[in-house]
Amino acid sequence: MVNRFFSYISLFQIVCVVCLVTSLIGCGQTNTSAQKPNIIFIMSDDHATNAISAYGSHLANVASTPNIDRLAAEGAILNNCFANNSICTPSRAAILTGQFSHVNGVRTLSDQLDTTTVHLAHHLQAIGYNTALIGKWHLHSEPQGFGYWNVLPDQGLYFNPEFIEKGQDEHSDFHNRTAQTHEGYVSDIITDLAIDWLQKQAKDQPFMLMMHHKAPHALWEYHPKYKDLFKDVEIPEPASLFENMKHRSDATRDVGNTLMRLAQRMSGQIKISSVHNYDEWPTGKLNIDGLDQKQIIRAVYQKYLKDYLRTVASVDESVGRVLDYLKENDLEDNTIIIYTSDQGMFLGEHQYLDKRWMFDEAIKMPFLIRYPRAIEVKTELNSLISNVDFAPTLLDYAGANVPDNMQGRSFKSLLEGDELTDWPSSIYYRYWMHRSTTPAHYGIRTAEYKLVFYYALNLDANNYGHPDTKAAWELYDLKNDPLEMNNVYGLAEYQDVIIDLKRQLKNTKKQIGDTDEQYPELLQRLKITK
Ligand code: CA
Repeated sequence: MVNRFFSYISLFQIVCVVCLVTSLIGCGQTNTSAQKPNIIFIMSDDHATNAISAYGSHLANVASTPNIDRLAAEGAILNNCFANNSICTPSRAAILTGQFSHVNGVRTLSDQLDTTTVHLAHHLQAIGYNTALIGKWHLHSEPQGFGYWNVLPDQGLYFNPEFIEKGQDEHSDFHNRTAQTHEGYVSDIITDLAIDWLQKQAKDQPFMLMMHHKAPHALWEYHPKYKDLFKDVEIPEPASLFENMKHRSDATRDVGNTLMRLAQRMSGQIKISSVHNYDEWPTGKLNIDGLDQKQIIRAVYQKYLKDYLRTVASVDESVGRVLDYLKENDLEDNTIIIYTSDQGMFLGEHQYLDKRWMFDEAIKMPFLIRYPRAIEVKTELNSLISNVDFAPTLLDYAGANVPDNMQGRSFKSLLEGDELTDWPSSIYYRYWMHRSTTPAHYGIRTAEYKLVFYYALNLDANNYGHPDTKAAWELYDLKNDPLEMNNVYGLAEYQDVIIDLKRQLKNTKKQIGDTDEQYPELLQRLKITK
């Protein structure tokens, strides 16, 4: 009897210990690997890395972004992250689909994302995520894959903007749906809507919020409270503001120069603006009496940068509000928070504003990410990352399979300190539109070089009515010329480099299926352009 009694006790104890251990393992899983991370993806519009102080540019000392910088201090900063097509709509499509423009069908500003396209948000929904999109959408069709959306029609307004909200109107033409006006400043309103949505999230369901700012997109209408920001400050000029364009190819030498054109218009040298709608720049009027052309360019630069950076101040403030919300609600540890922009922006470099060109200022995207559970503080990633890699990376963090039709690759393990010897050593770029300010082109960028082919044709997919222009190649030696102020394509000492880069470019185009067989006129130009 006694023995049997002790046997029962022992068995009971063993069962208890097993239960306890199981329970502890279970607890551990709940708090770590088994619990899917929340994702907050904050994306602004046209925010250059040079205008984020964590990137340490010539502007860092006058224009700080303390809240965005916190993500780098508490997580990782990517130093070589690139848009594969540096213009709003195509970049947004590439981010969601993980595909290049020729595959997702969004090559130009006017292409829309097909509503049958299955993308990042659908894949996260399928594994239990609650998904939302708030702010700028700019993919023209009705957003899909989001449990909630509330978006600006097209570009949206800075003041008292209208929003189209999911479920409010079912008109078949998305842009004809009834919109609701929100009183106030757009960056504040997007933040308010985002925090409202976060407050409604259940604790036991992971979420992904895409919070997309309109700022700092043209025409740089800043919040009135920032009107005196930079009042007596001289904004430092970029080294390439007065670049001598003699080194450029026939395709680009006399094209663009948007800041100069703006200056010419302001000084009355040209009557009709050829630089988009900058005529309507609300605070852009300057007194330029008695100034020579160089002085006018300098004055326009100061005005442009100050307005632009004032809109950035509101975006940085918004990031601070979201970070505070996560802290106050104990969401910091299990939330991946990203700050990025749909592409870069010229801030007077090469005397340009806008983006589009394959110069680094336009194609380089800011990308800062904090995820305390997996990413060490102050991580710097120098690998070449493309925006088609974003969706695979987020799916990887969420524990989902990356579908075969995504062309990018997860860089999760790179962020966590692994070295991947087979990570691509180049990125591919293609700007499909062909306009008077920027010819159509494609190219390849490695850590050391950038080779660009300006095919300069108005192809069927981007029928903007601009006549074909001269085709040419350009090569930049990024180690010796990081600001890309010296095209070395014609120099004998680079001929071996050019042969190798052209081989890489051809292989990449073949690999991603962008071979241009449907464009014989392009292939002919490729053949004859030396
Ligand atoms: Ca943009």
